[in-house]
Amino acid sequence: MDVTQIFGSNVFNEEIMQKRLPKDTYKALRKTIVDGTPLEPQVADVVANAMKDWAIEKGATHYTHWFQPLTGSTAEKHDSFISPTESGGVVMEFSGKQLIQGEPDASSFPSGGLRVTFEARGYTAWDCTSPAFLKEDAAGNVTLCIPTAFCSYNGEALDKKTPLLRSMDAVSKQAMRVLRVLGNTTSKRVLSTVGPEQEYFLVDKKYFAERLDLICTGRTLFGAPAPKGQEMEDHYFGQIKDRVSEFMKDLDTELWKMGISSKTKHNEVAPSQFEMAPIFSTTNIATDHNQLVMETLEKVALRHDLVCLLHEKPYAGVNGSGKHNNWSLSTDDGLNLLEPGSTPHDNEQFLMFLSALIMAVDRHADILRASAANSGNDHRLGANEAPPAIISIFMGDELTEILEAIKSGRKTRGKKSSYVEIGVDTLPPLPKDNTDRNRTSPFAFTGNKFEFRMVPSSASVSGPNVTLNTIVAEALDEIATRLEKARNLNKEAAAIIRDTMKKHGRIIFNGNNYSDEWVAEAEKRGLPNIASTVEALAAISSPKALAVFNKYKVLSRKEMQARHEIYTEQYAKQINIEGLTALDMARTLYIPAVISYVSELSQSVCMAGEAGVSTAVQKNLLSKVTALLESAYNKISLLEKAIGKAQEVDKAAKQAAVYRDEVFITINSLREDIDALEMLVPRDIWPVPTYADLLFKL
Ligand code: ADP
Ligand code: MG
Repeated sequence: MDVTQIFGSNVFNEEIMQKRLPKDTYKALRKTIVDGTPLEPQVADVVANAMKDWAIEKGATHYTHWFQPLTGSTAEKHDSFISPTESGGVVMEFSGKQLIQGEPDASSFPSGGLRVTFEARGYTAWDCTSPAFLKEDAAGNVTLCIPTAFCSYNGEALDKKTPLLRSMDAVSKQAMRVLRVLGNTTSKRVLSTVGPEQEYFLVDKKYFAERLDLICTGRTLFGAPAPKGQEMEDHYFGQIKDRVSEFMKDLDTELWKMGISSKTKHNEVAPSQFEMAPIFSTTNIATDHNQLVMETLEKVALRHDLVCLLHEKPYAGVNGSGKHNNWSLSTDDGLNLLEPGSTPHDNEQFLMFLSALIMAVDRHADILRASAANSGNDHRLGANEAPPAIISIFMGDELTEILEAIKSGRKTRGKKSSYVEIGVDTLPPLPKDNTDRNRTSPFAFTGNKFEFRMVPSSASVSGPNVTLNTIVAEALDEIATRLEKARNLNKEAAAIIRDTMKKHGRIIFNGNNYSDEWVAEAEKRGLPNIASTVEALAAISSPKALAVFNKYKVLSRKEMQARHEIYTEQYAKQINIEGLTALDMARTLYIPAVISYVSELSQSVCMAGEAGVSTAVQKNLLSKVTALLESAYNKISLLEKAIGKAQEVDKAAKQAAVYRDEVFITINSLREDIDALEMLVPRDIWPVPTYADLLFKL
């Protein structure tokens, strides 16, 4: 396999555009891509035609506006290129208008009240900064996919891409002000970049098919632990099994074809858990690509009789999955703004951007936390698993010491033992990629980027990056304004760092984030510790959040409130499904199986009694099993009642709280009995595959 040939072969990329478009058209399109200027209709027609010809040569019959509604997944409606001719035949057509805008019926997508049903039309608009690509399926269908933003008739965002593009503009604008005042005259734009590491589980399809909980909810609602978990630490970075390796090879090939730079793959900590990471790109392309990664993982797994689980916590008792969102800012001419420099000037700039991050994350830890909230992540965040629910920044000892020294005006203990004068001195050398990186931190500086580790494995990375871009834009705005007014830049820069550390330095924590001491310490520092999705989501429509998103024109108040409502409802719906699935499984699988064991035991007691031998063991088992059976049966009624009660509540936030406090809790309580029964009932009558089947039989 020649990877260089395969890579990007299904992408209408720079190279193809240059080859296939007339020079003027190419130039006009480039201008639109780079400067965001509108595309002339005639130019769009030429581009569309070239795109269609290219797609048809590669076997495409259909095109689709590919978009990202607020469900968190992607949506596509396929249109064939055919257009009737007078003679009764067809020609293959694709116009500029069709390329630029679509009008899908949007009434079945969540809108949070932004779109009334009589105005059910939604609009999709081409995001030409993310290249068009071809999707192939196993049946040989090839579809031209055009990445699009999805809005209502009034232009309100109904998707995950629109605010992301807006937030990229916002952070670019403010970052450019900082760069200009510090003397940069060459860069034109600042781009936010992301490399999301994707964790996932694989499970054999035949076992998956027998687990209604995995099918309906993505996680096991029941299941006693297998005798072995992850305690041997033998899976992480372990040898990849052939079956999995075949899957990964297939996965990489599919991703590479779509221009997704799949780079690393390895076994993760939990049994049957894995990770892939691409090379980073701009936040909008990285987000599109991550959606495709998730989709392709699921699709390719099935070809290998595997099922890919993207859920944050498919199994109790072993690690869950997350997405490490590696984020940075760089200029269009390639300067990473979070890279410590080697000259005093570079360092001044670096420290300004670092200050912006400290300010932003401390001010808006609650919104950042909300951006990583979903029902699956509630099993990880704040539940003794990586990372904890309290947001803090790991900065590393060296950098923290420098910041502290600047704050207090004292000498650093660095090698030179000198006072760091901003803009005059260079920083003492920092370890490039701290090898002793703190693995417990939810937001870690890793040498030239920040790694936000709370992001849920199954969710779009859009939300967290919209949030990061926006809150950093606000901080950079403040810094730029101060610098622009300053008489002495270096002094002002030092003052900015000092003020930032005094006001927001509390967000820096380099210790063990899992310790109880940190929970107490964080409380003393006044840092929020938000354990559940329902609470976390409230931050989205707080006055503070509405103000910052509105000010930088990322999301209006109305758009934010709609999102709050949609996400809250999603939580409630998810727990409702979990409740109903638990009821179904308990009633139709577990209880009947246990009853048949009870009869078996009872018969044995009678027969052994008749035979005149001891029935002690049977009786003992029988009483244990019966007690658990009764308890489980009661909890089934309780669960049914709790679900009924939750369904009756009509305000979204209140309803979600009932789902969390009553339905979710009762599911767990029912699980305790069922799992205890699983340890007593013979394997051959247990109605579903066990944890050992699911986790260790790949
Ligand atoms: P680790 O698991 O040690 O954190 P990985 O190599 O798995 O490292 O993931 C690091 C991710 O960070 C990769 O996707 C990489 O491309 C990305 N990355 C590197 N530099 C940047 C940057 N400047 N901006 C955004 N992401 C980056
Ligand atoms: Mg990482």
